[in-house]
Amino acid sequence: MSRGLPNQHRYLHRIPPTPLVPVALGDHPPIWCKLEFLNPSGSTKDRIARHILEKACRQGKLNPGDTVIEASSGSTSIAMALACAQLGLKFIAVMPEGVSNERTFMIRAYGGVVMLTPKAEGIRGTIDRAVEIAAERGAFLPRQFSNPDNAEAHRIGTAREILDQIPDGAVDVVASGVGTGGTLVGLYQGLTDGGASVTPVVARPVSLYGENELECCSFSSQIPGVVDSISEIFSEAVLPGLTTIEVKDDLALDTARQLIAAGFPVGPSSGLNYVAAVEARKALSRPDAVVVTVFPDRMERYFTTELFRPLRCGDA
Ligand code: PMP
Repeated sequence: MSRGLPNQHRYLHRIPPTPLVPVALGDHPPIWCKLEFLNPSGSTKDRIARHILEKACRQGKLNPGDTVIEASSGSTSIAMALACAQLGLKFIAVMPEGVSNERTFMIRAYGGVVMLTPKAEGIRGTIDRAVEIAAERGAFLPRQFSNPDNAEAHRIGTAREILDQIPDGAVDVVASGVGTGGTLVGLYQGLTDGGASVTPVVARPVSLYGENELECCSFSSQIPGVVDSISEIFSEAVLPGLTTIEVKDDLALDTARQLIAAGFPVGPSSGLNYVAAVEARKALSRPDAVVVTVFPDRMERYFTTELFRPLRCGDA
């Protein structure tokens, strides 16, 4: 199939706002949830892929046929692969070993190339390798962890949609897990630009382990996309009133399963975000307070993970 589609085959600029819907799984006031899994590649990362690449094309930093390289454990690479297919660019995804076939197949199906880095080197090793390959090949690096256009995509896109979708445009709390931080930082900035007085809340997944489960909390490996201490966007942002809500990963996964059972085909981080939003909601005294969160991606990329273990093992 040819690269460099004629303009009339491109549709990324025509995508309508994702829905923002009130969701209440239990007996509590609803949380406003942005259904980002409805983006074309299945995640909110379509927004940053499109914004970063189109901006680079407008600025002459990218031309048809050029190569884009992204280091990511999944969603961003899938989104970049789709956007590159649409924009007539080549794409290489550098990913840590162990990512699921669901992810690598999607990237390759969009015409991208997948290169794997040793698991032991972690996401940092993946990022370093992507930088090396980009230097060798003169390729474009979107640098999702440090590129301000990541947060800008949410500031001028997702946040403005929310302000149009919420009655009166009043938002009191925005809650999200942090990977690059682009979602939370961009939403906070965009909602504030629009006049909302909003408190940002980090949804932080924790794993409990050890014999008596008393010891030691650490970042969860069960909630892909949400990682610790790596994002310049997040650490450099000014986020007054920033609050962190810790969510056990088994609760996040169970909540994601409940959301799926309610007809929201989401991945683990949506469960995480929803639980944190409900907790943040409880802390507010006003009954009419508006709490917003995002459902970042779709369930289909998690069939081989813990999220679907009850179904695979027949105990659901
Ligand atoms: N959920 C999923 C599934 C993700 O892939 C990511 C980001 N990698 C996030 C949440 C966090 O979003 P952000 O990078 O904007 O902080």
